[in-house]
Amino acid sequence: MVTDSEQPRGLSTRCVHAGEELDAQGGIHAPLYNHSTFGFRSTADLLDVVEGRKEGNLYTRYGLNPTIRSLERKLADLENGEAAFAFSSGMAAEAATFLAHLKTGDHIVCIGDVYGGTYELLRANLPGLGIETSFLLANEAPNLAAALTDRTKMVFFETPTNPTLDVIDIGAVARAAKTVSALTVVDNTFATPVYQNPLDLGADLVVHSATKYLGGHSDLIGGVVVGPKDLLEPIWTWRKNLGQMIAPEVAFLLSRSIRTLVVRVRAQNATAIQVAEFLASHPRILRVNYPGLGGGSELARKQMRGFGGMLSFVLVGDAKETAAVIDRLRIFSIAPSLGGVESLVTQPITTTHHGMSAEERARRGIVDGMVRLSCGLEDAADLIADLTQALS
Ligand code: PLP
Repeated sequence: MVTDSEQPRGLSTRCVHAGEELDAQGGIHAPLYNHSTFGFRSTADLLDVVEGRKEGNLYTRYGLNPTIRSLERKLADLENGEAAFAFSSGMAAEAATFLAHLKTGDHIVCIGDVYGGTYELLRANLPGLGIETSFLLANEAPNLAAALTDRTKMVFFETPTNPTLDVIDIGAVARAAKTVSALTVVDNTFATPVYQNPLDLGADLVVHSATKYLGGHSDLIGGVVVGPKDLLEPIWTWRKNLGQMIAPEVAFLLSRSIRTLVVRVRAQNATAIQVAEFLASHPRILRVNYPGLGGGSELARKQMRGFGGMLSFVLVGDAKETAAVIDRLRIFSIAPSLGGVESLVTQPITTTHHGMSAEERARRGIVDGMVRLSCGLEDAADLIADLTQALS
């Protein structure tokens, strides 16, 4: 997005203004059109939209609704993509991406830890359609070439990963995937466009659970796919025919939240650094996973502009002792989600990775004593005091 003087606009400005225009009544931002359908003055006018000669509003399940299209222009702008599609959830966005770009006999490589629902989709649902996935650990990413076959059509990963917060080299993976013409799809939920733009680093498509930082207030469920129009087009058909459309009310709420994305995420990042440093020096903590600890690894500093509000740590103790610490927390709520203004805590073995076998969790370092924190917008000192009393 450029200004009149052609100076590229900063991210905060784009969060507020991208995709928005004054409406017919002069409303200062995109209004809520919660209509299911839109009317035309003539059949010729309707056919112009149906046959793609004119952009226009038609039917909300198709996404041809002004509130949804305004949100999608904003999302595309923030991820530096040509276009974006909004969905009823992050899982809907991922599922449509897989269904649109994979068919029976195709192969996916999934690198590192991913959200438990994504793992289940790849491991339990897609094989029924003849689509198989190989799972590499994050530290095996440099060996990706050996896992690629002429059937590999997609490489999928999150970075930072969930819940171990490993950072995966987006550019290196995308270059390797290109050698077999496989698409690189990155889940950018944790980093957000504030700290990382995977498309700029070589990824073909970016997905988000908008439920998390983009929504930011634990009051909506949504998903996003961003990328070039030719890769989005087949996804559009699946979204339409599976009925995975975001509701206009949710799209309106999501646009409102995104206007404050930068200030929220920067504050959460600042708090997470303080919490990570406190935990790293605590005698009951074996390990802290936070990409910004000690200033961040070379890779994290190269591909990220900040490190986010998520961290995990491993307690000296078994599953029961870990649960007891969590149960003593008063400000952190015990909940499986993340990215909201309220700080949340979860023991991955009880929520996000409950469905994964104990052996697979052990292989991935998702141990019984692991605790994941999502730092909210409370005062960092209060969060540290809460952790201090819970650990004492
Ligand atoms: N991706 C990540 C990183 C997530 O944490 C989640 C949910 O927790 C999802 C995708 C799925 O998103 P949703 O719950 O919006 O379907």
